[in-house]
Amino acid sequence: MQRRSFLTSLAAVATAISGGFATKASGAEPKRVVVIGGGYGGATAARYLKLWGRDAISVTMIETDPSFVSCPLSNLVLGGSREMRHITVPYTRLARRGIDVVRDTALAIDPRRREVRLARGAPVHYDRLVLSPGIGFFFDRIPGLGSAEAQQKVLHAWKAGPQTAALRAQIEAMPNGGVFAISIPRAPYRCPPAPYERACQGAWYFKRAKPRSKVLVLDGNEEVQSKKALFTRAWAEDYRGIVEYRPDYVLIDVDARTLTAKFETAEDERVDVLNAIPPHGAAAIAHQAGVVTANDAWCEVDFLTFESVKAKGIHVLGDAIQVAPLMPKSGHMANQHAKVAAAAILALLRDAPVNLSPTMNNTCYSFITDREAAHIASVHQWNAEQKTFLTVPGSGGLSQAASVVEGELGFAWAQSIWDDMLS
Ligand SMILES: Cc1cc2nc3c(=O)[nH]c(=O)nc-3n(C[C@H](O)[C@H](O)[C@H](O)COP(=O)(O)OP(=O)(O)OC[C@H]3O[C@@H](n4cnc5c(N)ncnc54)[C@H](O)[C@@H]3O)c2cc1C
Repeated sequence: MQRRSFLTSLAAVATAISGGFATKASGAEPKRVVVIGGGYGGATAARYLKLWGRDAISVTMIETDPSFVSCPLSNLVLGGSREMRHITVPYTRLARRGIDVVRDTALAIDPRRREVRLARGAPVHYDRLVLSPGIGFFFDRIPGLGSAEAQQKVLHAWKAGPQTAALRAQIEAMPNGGVFAISIPRAPYRCPPAPYERACQGAWYFKRAKPRSKVLVLDGNEEVQSKKALFTRAWAEDYRGIVEYRPDYVLIDVDARTLTAKFETAEDERVDVLNAIPPHGAAAIAHQAGVVTANDAWCEVDFLTFESVKAKGIHVLGDAIQVAPLMPKSGHMANQHAKVAAAAILALLRDAPVNLSPTMNNTCYSFITDREAAHIASVHQWNAEQKTFLTVPGSGGLSQAASVVEGELGFAWAQSIWDDMLS
């Protein structure tokens, strides 16, 4: 009964969003929305624009990669308990929904002509553009990573895909007794808990396969950035003698030939596998489009619509944005941005008012072993006075300890968010 009333109210929300838009006036051309990026933000936006806008909207999604590969759960591939096929999802179901999925790379956006120039195909016109391109790395700040050759040796694996498989191969090839170092950039960076989860997954593997090996966490920040009590306990108990954590290790250079990391104040570290996550900001296309407005790294948006503060008609989502206070750069959050933006775009295209009280949530699971996880959650509500999202006092929470039950919930979270964005 309760479930039925929940579904009824969900249907009412969908009708309210799409009301008047779902069927186009006869003879009217559908409005064109182009989405750049088929990741957590872009794929969700494409799907919800089509779901709510139906035949009144034509949706084109431009994505460089042939399939979606998830960063969430990719640390388990590094630990060896999951494989690449477990985190890879094709775009075929989105295409079956009527979304034009174009495998190409957006090279330039012309906001005046409302046009996207592609690497291979003809330019694409839009009435509104969604830009969810994720992150790009500032390799120039780590001079030793300047060449393609160095970047193939010192991997980041901070965008899931070939680098995830390559880093796993490096860890597997490392001798028993070797050191696997993870260098973390200064915050804000993509997914605050993920480097520490990676340390746990490396340690989980070493404990079984190479017990004399070590994980060295070289953090550019003053302390662990998320789930601190949980991770420090795991390192002190489950992974005692395997994980060593060092704060204030700001990476300034690497020697890719000798796998040596160099720091602002600390001594150099020569290791066996060097996983350097360079400082990063919004991906290149956001810089080209001129929508990067904060610290030469991130894109500021109007949070009611996710429209860029700089360029009309361009809605920026996901990790590329300058986030609201305490809002993490996460896949879950990008998925939430996308739904608020899709509803707002549909309203704007029919000159209707946008929702003036959006609320979003975030949940992030971190795996401590192959099966045990813990979560952190938060709720973010629009505040009209401060014109930003603020966390709702008393909402959200943090697990006391990792458990197998939460691990199962973590796997279920991944499956359901992939369905929510890619089916
Ligand atoms: C190791 C790791 C673990 C993580 N774990 C979690 C977790 O447990 N939970 C969670 O919520 N988040 C997690 N995250 C964070 C999450 O992956 C990101 O926050 C999320 O991917 C952001 O979504 P996005 O749409 O902004 O970017 P992405 O998902 O990276 O999507 C961007 C897409 O745009 C494409 N693209 C870029 N430029 C162009 C162009 N010019 N033309 C065409 N296509 C382009 C890219 O190929 C990419 O597919 C993790 C991240 C990492 C690195």
